[in-house]
Amino acid sequence: MLVKGVVFRFEDMLPPETKLLLEDFRLAVNSSVRAGLQARVTSRNALTRLAYKDFRQEHPKMYAQHLVSAFEVAAALLKSHRKRVRRGNPASIPFVRRLFMKAENQAYKLDRENGVIDLPIMAGCHVRLKLVLSDYNRGFLDNHSYSLGSLTLTSDRAVIAFRKEAPKPYVPDSVLSLDTNERSLDGVFVRGDDASAVKADFPDVATIQQRHHDRRKRLQKKKAHDRRTSRRLCRREGARERHRIEYRLHQVANAVLSFAEDQKSAVVLEDLKGIRPKWSKELNRRLSLWPRRKLHQIIEYKAQWRGIPVVKVDPRYSSRTCPICGRIQDSRMGTEFECECGWHLDKHVNASLNLLQTAISKGMAGGLRFNPGAFQHDVMMILYDPERGARSEPNGTSGMTVAS
Ligand SMILES: [Zn+2]
Repeated sequence: MLVKGVVFRFEDMLPPETKLLLEDFRLAVNSSVRAGLQARVTSRNALTRLAYKDFRQEHPKMYAQHLVSAFEVAAALLKSHRKRVRRGNPASIPFVRRLFMKAENQAYKLDRENGVIDLPIMAGCHVRLKLVLSDYNRGFLDNHSYSLGSLTLTSDRAVIAFRKEAPKPYVPDSVLSLDTNERSLDGVFVRGDDASAVKADFPDVATIQQRHHDRRKRLQKKKAHDRRTSRRLCRREGARERHRIEYRLHQVANAVLSFAEDQKSAVVLEDLKGIRPKWSKELNRRLSLWPRRKLHQIIEYKAQWRGIPVVKVDPRYSSRTCPICGRIQDSRMGTEFECECGWHLDKHVNASLNLLQTAISKGMAGGLRFNPGAFQHDVMMILYDPERGARSEPNGTSGMTVAS
């Protein structure tokens, strides 16, 4: 089952009863986290047994299902807390500061026609929350093949989880093989006997990383006398950086997948597992791999949602192998891959040819073949252009996770 969280804004301010409910919910989560830590329990059921009675007494009218949901949230917090502690990472006691609540699908109603959430607060008290509906939002409400999952409310938005069975990936007519680099996806698109280079540029991702890196360095220096403030500010910088980068990565992934879907392509990516970050001479620091891993994660789950087949292959030697004669080159190379046999090509595009050949040799590209001799050296298709991509899209930031 696939789940996609879709963000909705409210047409009006939240009614005061809802604000109170959010506060109660946060209180319930935080105190059951504390109770759970004390009693060393982390499961929802154990937390319910532990804290339900006390909470019921303090909040006699709170809708029971919300309370159970609060225990579930607390259990999830405790679990990730325990994981961090086990890994030996410094972990403070989890504490929810932001106002929010989560309701499972049986604990709220959604009028999909009019976009109104009916949320029970307590016995005899319901609120109706009217949602702002963009075309993107409308698409989810109108499509009844999506069933409803949980609802997450914060003071300024609702996130509704829509669920559907994973569609069966189509049988591909073509292949889009992509080599993932720090500032771009570079690759080859193969359809029948034609093969041409493709590119999706995202130079701003590295720029944003550099800018935030510098800013964090400056903060650490400036706040060297106050480690707590320094840590807090750095964390905030980190969250902003992630947010900005993820926004761009979503746009790149959408562009690439729309192309793949139009062409009925299978997408070939390198498996980044086990890849170590390289040291950058110009920046004098290690290049972070997370934007690339994140991009793959986004591409993979969006592809799954749309039924686009994705193949991951071992990238070993992909940047140093000649796809024509199979020689493996010395690792030192400029921007151009050159081989004694006379083959030469942009080194990133060349790497994508090798990824493609690996996928084909393993029978993972749906029986498609590829003749490197057919490669058109003078054609470059642009899948994503940051100039054009800077236009904001309403669906750029919605998240999706895969549920079992
Ligand atoms: Zn060669």
